[in-house]
Amino acid sequence: MLLKPLQQFICDGCGAVIQQPQHAEILWTMEAAPEDYPHDYWYYNYKLVHKRYKSPYGTIGCGLGDQLCNNDIETFLELFLLDPECKDISEFQELMHRLTIPYFEEAKLYMAAAIKDMDMLKELCGGFTNAKFFKKVIELYGG
Ligand SMILES: [Zn+2]
Repeated sequence: MLLKPLQQFICDGCGAVIQQPQHAEILWTMEAAPEDYPHDYWYYNYKLVHKRYKSPYGTIGCGLGDQLCNNDIETFLELFLLDPECKDISEFQELMHRLTIPYFEEAKLYMAAAIKDMDMLKELCGGFTNAKFFKKVIELYGG
């Protein structure tokens, strides 16, 4: 295992390991939503990155340049878990998986290699919704 589940993450900006949740922040972009959307704004372009003081890029940080908003993981989950206001729900879901499903963050590195054995893995581990599935992907394909 490379990462401690739900404690360490891979930075979307620099690609290095974020050593603990306190060293991470979520960045996103906010824009005015269309009139038929139930809220004034919606959000997209989520990135999980090092906080500036932990970034290997120094004060420039690991942000990718066009995000306007940021929060630490705890505050982000508190604000968005029940009412996401997302432009693209699948992008938001992937971020939620990274933050809440044990082993998902590391297993996604190996999913391309695991795809050929997907039926066997789902049967062996009880399907995608089970954290055992992602742990097994790491064990079998993580080298
Ligand atoms: Zn980084």
